[in-house]
Amino acid sequence: MDYQNLVELHVHLEGAVRHETLYELLKEKCLPVPGNGTLEDLKKKMIINEPIDLAHFLAPFCHIVDVVKDIAVAERVAYEFCEEMSKNNVKYVEARYSPHNFTPDQKEVSNMTALEEAVKAVTRGFTKGELDFGVKARSILCGLNGTDGVIDVLQLSKTFKNDGVVGIDMATKQGSEITEEILLDPKAIYVYEEAKKCGIHRTLHAGETGGPDMIVRALDVFHTERIGHGYHVLDDNKIYNRCLKEKIHFECCPWSSLLTGSLCKTIIKHPIVRFAEDDVNFSINSDDPTVTGFWILDDYKLVQSWGISENSLKQANNNAAENCFLPEHEKAQLIKLIKK
Ligand SMILES: [Zn+2]
Repeated sequence: MDYQNLVELHVHLEGAVRHETLYELLKEKCLPVPGNGTLEDLKKKMIINEPIDLAHFLAPFCHIVDVVKDIAVAERVAYEFCEEMSKNNVKYVEARYSPHNFTPDQKEVSNMTALEEAVKAVTRGFTKGELDFGVKARSILCGLNGTDGVIDVLQLSKTFKNDGVVGIDMATKQGSEITEEILLDPKAIYVYEEAKKCGIHRTLHAGETGGPDMIVRALDVFHTERIGHGYHVLDDNKIYNRCLKEKIHFECCPWSSLLTGSLCKTIIKHPIVRFAEDDVNFSINSDDPTVTGFWILDDYKLVQSWGISENSLKQANNNAAENCFLPEHEKAQLIKLIKK
């Protein structure tokens, strides 16, 4: 496969900061640099190589969160992200982030002006990035686990619906699956119901570490259109068959799924291999390149090494385009480009 014209749907902007930029900003802001103070060592400390557990995977994020709470940084990170995407032959990407992480006080509930400034800064970075690198990038705003911040995210998605923001998600502060209790939280349910009413697209981290019942809840209660990860759908045949029948889209992140420990360490066959065999509607994504050390091209190559056919890989990219959150006319143009 020539891996051209790729589409990526699941990547966290906070998890896609260049190591060089992180190093420079930590020094500039007089914050502790992980490791012995060199860039090389920072890379070693930031990249997780071994699957241990989710806490181990999420630990390096504290360094990123320390530096991004600044409008200028938000714009820079968004711009550089487009350059990295272009190096990975990506034509269209939906990057998700918590606007709260990019505000100066990083409070769970920040003031709306600061949040709006953060979203505008990311969109400015994306707009410049599109001009300079030919990558179209749109935002998915991510509500933080069990906080009033989900209400902010709903409000921001309404404000910026036709201005760079294409959908909402919900995750923990570090970008992993929300807990079961949150999926019962009336506030979170309200946000998704209201988003549906307003025509705001919805995705949700589910079935990554949680069981298949979380996927059912995401679909039936949260009206989500795509599932972030979703590997544990395979734990229940009935639910798996339902998802197959309804062509539910799974945003799969191959390398990250191994590093987070969300799958049993001794799995013989990765769920993505089964998805490809059964013609599940799935895409291939990178999730958090700063921490995994893998950008999307690396993930494509990894799954190819697992024996997934070239046709399935092409189909995965088509699935990404067909399930993206762009307005219909832009989506049609994207699909045309991909299939060229
Ligand atoms: Zn994620």
